[in-house]
Amino acid sequence: MSTQEPVAGGPPAGVRSYALPDGRTAVTFEAALCRHAAECVRGLPAVFDTSKRPWIQPDRAPADAVVEVVGRCPTRALKIVREGDAGADSGG
Ligand code: SF4
Repeated sequence: MSTQEPVAGGPPAGVRSYALPDGRTAVTFEAALCRHAAECVRGLPAVFDTSKRPWIQPDRAPADAVVEVVGRCPTRALKIVREGDAGADSGG
């Protein structure tokens, strides 16, 4: 029932992972990088809601919308990780 499980391999230390409903994709959040620019909260308030626990609930919007808003994070505190990704950062 819960979709808040890390994808295979798990995130690095200090990073939390929130699975999308497809079970193969996750949003990761690294608190140390967050500068509270609030792009995420403004972009998809149903998914990114700091008053809720967990504060990221990716199943509350279409996956494409979640991926798009994650891409707006100016600090890369938020990232998309897909199953099979080595480290989610391909240098681009
Ligand atoms: S968009 Fe990124 S930096 Fe801004 S509040 Fe969200 S996670 Fe933090």
